[in-house]
Amino acid sequence: MDLKLNGKVALVLGASRGLGGAIAKMLAEEGASVIGVARNTSSIDEWSKTLSIKSYKCDLSNSTAVEDLIKFASKEKVSILVNNCGGPPAGPAAGQKNEVWENAFKSMALPMFSITNALLPNMVSQKWGRIVTIGSSGIEQPIPNLALSNGIRGAIAGWSKSLANEVACDGITVNMVLPGRVATDRLRELDQGKANRVGQSLEEVEKEAKLSIPAGRYGKPEEFASVVTFLSSDAASYITGSMIRVDGGLTKGL
Ligand code: NAD
Repeated sequence: MDLKLNGKVALVLGASRGLGGAIAKMLAEEGASVIGVARNTSSIDEWSKTLSIKSYKCDLSNSTAVEDLIKFASKEKVSILVNNCGGPPAGPAAGQKNEVWENAFKSMALPMFSITNALLPNMVSQKWGRIVTIGSSGIEQPIPNLALSNGIRGAIAGWSKSLANEVACDGITVNMVLPGRVATDRLRELDQGKANRVGQSLEEVEKEAKLSIPAGRYGKPEEFASVVTFLSSDAASYITGSMIRVDGGLTKGL
């Protein structure tokens, strides 16, 4: 299938590793010109030796740095935006301080909202745009001890669906993809955190986690990236306002 990504400019947030890194590389392999955003861009600069990717250094939790990114990206004719962010700290909902909620909202949701707003006019003028936001299986089935992630991503899901309704008539699709246990550094860090908390080895925690996944294994970042790449393409033009799970069957509801 020709995804017709040649000539498209894609901006991928949180692109230095994990899901964002796999997406940035796959979009470039499929012909897009990719701008990968991260705090540390050395991995992206390495990939740029063989792929059509350039890096932009930005701490998305710093609003001034996000304003600078917006000024830069507004000149780049971006028509594919992949909204991704670092995961928030683990912890419960009960007793969580306002300040912690505020910081999580500022570093996860607000950069997505403001960067999307800034790039929309170009997509509207081209009558073509793709906005794909990385969520979490926790939106549909809250993950224990990840209350900040479950809560903030719920807000992001409401925003994404609202926006999808507003811009569909301009040829712009807005979707979310929900990872569930895709093997990245972040997942390993969370599993290690649990192992330390409950006094098990990392291997024991992973083995137990895999028992709850019908596929019986963790996903690969490339398996996630291929869905985002498809949603970013011309072929996915009638999919909007959707949330698509890439979780090996982990989410138990319909
Ligand atoms: P990751 O931590 O491995 O990668 C996150 C990326 O975002 C990295 O490139 C990192 O450098 C970048 N980043 C983090 N904070 C940043 C900041 N302030 N400014 C700029 N860049 C920043 O995470 P991942 O596993 O690839 O997951 C991506 C997102 O999906 C995370 O929000 C994660 O919580 C969420 N998620 C992942 C899974 C999974 O199974 N891997 C499951 C549910 C949710």
